[in-house]
Amino acid sequence: MAVVIVGAGHGGVETAGALRRLGYDGTITVVDGDDAVPYERPPLSKRFLGGEEHLSLRGPSFFSDENIDLRLGTAVAAIDRQRRVVRLSDDAELAYEHLVLATGSRPRRLPVSGGEHAVSLHSLADATALRARLASARSLAIIGAGFIGMELAAHARTHELAVTVLELSDRPMDRVLSPTVSGYFEQLHREHGVDLRTSTGASEILDTGSGATVRTDVGDEVAADVVVAAVGAVPQISLATEAGLEVAAGVLVDEQLRTSDQQIYAIGDCAQYVHPLTGGQVRLEAVANATDQGTHVAGSICGASAPYSAVPWFYTDQYDARLRIAGIWRPGEQVVRGSLGSGTVFTFDGDTLVCAESINAPREHMACRKLVGTSEVLSATMATDPNVDLRELAKAAS
Ligand SMILES: Cc1cc2nc3c(=O)[nH]c(=O)nc-3n(C[C@H](O)[C@H](O)[C@H](O)COP(=O)(O)OP(=O)(O)OC[C@H]3O[C@@H](n4cnc5c(N)ncnc54)[C@H](O)[C@@H]3O)c2cc1C
Repeated sequence: MAVVIVGAGHGGVETAGALRRLGYDGTITVVDGDDAVPYERPPLSKRFLGGEEHLSLRGPSFFSDENIDLRLGTAVAAIDRQRRVVRLSDDAELAYEHLVLATGSRPRRLPVSGGEHAVSLHSLADATALRARLASARSLAIIGAGFIGMELAAHARTHELAVTVLELSDRPMDRVLSPTVSGYFEQLHREHGVDLRTSTGASEILDTGSGATVRTDVGDEVAADVVVAAVGAVPQISLATEAGLEVAAGVLVDEQLRTSDQQIYAIGDCAQYVHPLTGGQVRLEAVANATDQGTHVAGSICGASAPYSAVPWFYTDQYDARLRIAGIWRPGEQVVRGSLGSGTVFTFDGDTLVCAESINAPREHMACRKLVGTSEVLSATMATDPNVDLRELAKAAS
C-alpha cells in the first residue's frame, strides 16, 4: 500500500506525520517542486522579514525517522488515474493507492501594465529577496490590503519605511474580517503612519530604475523604492483539472475530503468543500485548515469515516495586535466582550455563534473554537458578561 502526497507544505507534511502517528506502515512519499526544506509560510510576512531564520515545519531528522520519502525539487507533472501513478518532472513514476493533493496556492498576478515591476510574497525565495531589498529601501508601496499586505505594512512601519497601501475595497482585509475588526486595524495602521488608500486601485506601474511609480485609478502617483503586489492567491489546481477531476474555484471534495476520484484527496488552499458551519462552498487559505484537513485525510486513509467538520481558525500579527479568528464571518448580530484591542467580537446568526474575532485574547479564542457553531449555548448577552466563564461553557459544549 502506498500514499503519495503532492506538496510538502503545511497540509502535505501534516498528512504524512499523522499517517505515521496513526500507525500506517505503508510507503509514504511526499513530493514538492520547491527545493527548500519544508517550511512554515506565515512567518514570511512577519518575523522572517525581521531576521528570524527558523522556519522548518519539522525537525531535521523527522522525515528519515518516520521513514517518509521526501522528494524536493521534483514536481508532479501529471496524474494517470487509470494506472494510479503520478509522473514526476524527472519522468520517474510513482504508484499510489491513495493520492493526496496538497498543492496550495500561488500569488495572483497584478493584471496591469508594468505589473511585473511589483514583487510577490509567497515563497521562501520571495521573502528572502524582499528582505534584502527592504534592508536598503526607504519607501514601500503595497498593492492590496489583505492579510499579507497589512502584515508587511506593519513590519515596514516598525522599521520606519514610508508605507503606502492601495486597496480596491473600502476597507482592509474585507474578505475575512467583520467591518468592526477591519475598522480597528485600519485605524491602527493609520496611527502607525501607514498611508492607507481604500477604494483605490493600481492602474499602471512604471519602472524608474531605482524603484517604481504606481499610477492609481483615481489619478495619483505613488513613488516607492519597492512595490509589492499582495492581491490574493489562486489555488494550484492544474494537475487536478488535467486529470479530469471535478474543479470549481478549487478542487471539489466531499465531506471526507475525497475528490471525484475516490482514491484521490485534496486538502488545504487548493481544496473547495461545503463547510457545515455555513452550508456553502468554501476554499480557505489558513494553516489550521490545511493541517486539520491533513489529519482528517490520514484518518480516512486509515479507515475512519467521520465527516470533516473542524471549526476554521486563522491568525495574524500586526504591530502588537494578535488577532485570532474562530469560524467564518458573515453579517449578523455583533457584540464586543472587553475592548476592541483586548477582547472578542462575537457574531451571531440567530442563536448560533458563527464567528469570534479575538484581539490579544488568546484564552477567549481557545474557548471560542469550541463554541463557534453551537446554538443556544452562548447568547449575545452572556458573551459580553465578564462573569460568564467562556472556558467552562466550552468544556460543557465539547
Ligand atoms: C506570506 C504568507 C503569510 C501567511 N500567513 C498566514 C497566517 O498568519 N496565518 C494563517 O493561518 N495562514 C497564513 N498564510 C496561509 C497559509 O500559509 C496557507 O494557507 C498554507 O500554507 C496552506 O497550506 P497548503 O498545504 O494547502 O499549501 P502550502 O503550504 O502552500 O504548500 C503547497 C506546496 O505544494 C507544492 N506544489 C504545488 N504544486 C506542486 C506540484 N505539481 N508538484 C509538487 N509540488 C507542488 C508547492 O511547492 C508548495 O510547497 C500565509 C501565507 C503566506 C504566503
